[in-house]
Amino acid sequence: AHGDKEQRQRKSSTQSASSRNVEVRSLESSSIKEGIEGCIGNTPLVRIKSLSEETGCEILAKAEFLNGAGNSPKDRAASSIISMAEEQGLLRPNSGDVIYEGTVGSTGISLAAIARARGYNAHICMPSDQSTEKSSLLLHLGATVDRVPPASIIDPNHFVNRARTLAAAHTTSPTQPGRGFFADQFETAANWRAHFEGTGPEILAQAGGQLDAFVAGAGTGGTISGVARCLKGRLGRGGVRIVLADPQGSGLWNKIKYGVMFDVKEREGTRRRHQVDSIVEGIGLNRMTENFEAGRTLIDDAVRVTDEQAMAMAQWLVEKDGIFAGSSSAVNCVAATKVALELGPGHRIVTLLCDPGTRHLSKFWAKAGTVGNKTDTKLVDVLHTDGS
Ligand code: PMP
Repeated sequence: AHGDKEQRQRKSSTQSASSRNVEVRSLESSSIKEGIEGCIGNTPLVRIKSLSEETGCEILAKAEFLNGAGNSPKDRAASSIISMAEEQGLLRPNSGDVIYEGTVGSTGISLAAIARARGYNAHICMPSDQSTEKSSLLLHLGATVDRVPPASIIDPNHFVNRARTLAAAHTTSPTQPGRGFFADQFETAANWRAHFEGTGPEILAQAGGQLDAFVAGAGTGGTISGVARCLKGRLGRGGVRIVLADPQGSGLWNKIKYGVMFDVKEREGTRRRHQVDSIVEGIGLNRMTENFEAGRTLIDDAVRVTDEQAMAMAQWLVEKDGIFAGSSSAVNCVAATKVALELGPGHRIVTLLCDPGTRHLSKFWAKAGTVGNKTDTKLVDVLHTDGS
């Protein structure tokens, strides 16, 4: 009976559309999504035409900026973390419970949107040097936003420590209703599992199981670890290369290449960098996290990308493909292109477009500048751009 009704509904909507002489694709009723969280996942895999033509490889990007709640892969992690907390009784919808998180922005945006949809409040602690687009968006989503000065992870005022402390204080406060829940994206397994169960299997299905390499940056490490565990589990350890795309100033490149986070010069010096010294937001780390550790030994190689290369690639993607990408997406595309050139023609490389360029207008794109009427940039110039 339910099927009949569905068929009738589909028929009547087709009739009314055709009577208005409008051509409609036949849409399945399942294309109606259950709220904003229904718009998370199943993102398209997009062939980046210019990079594919130039390298003779197929460079495919998972369009994670099309995740519908917060426009980044962090929607998957946020949804998974909140669901896990509800299953464990740590969060109870519409109870006054507050989700606390330390984030450079994307995870906060995803958490804030999903929190609204499920009846929670969100309290987001983020470093004050991140683009204002993200903190403004958080305020519009009704989150409480703490912008804290950049600090070392051992400093109680580091954005992650601040969020953890506030969550604990909330729970024990006699005046605040509900509980505080610390989302803990850097350490919780619910993060990488979202990509192990979602992003990874989607890539395998969309690529028909045929891919030679997966290339991604790491902010928490959830994406690369979850996808790596899925792909290597299904294709075999040698069946696919996993390559980290790392911005300048991050310690992860060293960790993968040489087993230590910092290069010798830096370790011998007095300065231990706590900030990733790059204009790129969302990826790069100078400490180990459980989420990076979850897939670390599955990562075959790492590519270091300078800010200049990332900006040149971001411009290239606009100039050649009409893609207006965020900074971490540009880093991914530089690294994916380098991997393609290393592997040689005929290989298939999958990477991610993480978030839209609109989120980076005031910082990354302000520095990268406009493309204007350029049509003649050479890929070799993008890859060999060097700020020094
Ligand atoms: N791109 C952007 C824009 C991000 O904000 C993040 C997460 N901070 C990432 C990529 C990396 O994702 P992950 O945390 O899964 O490593």
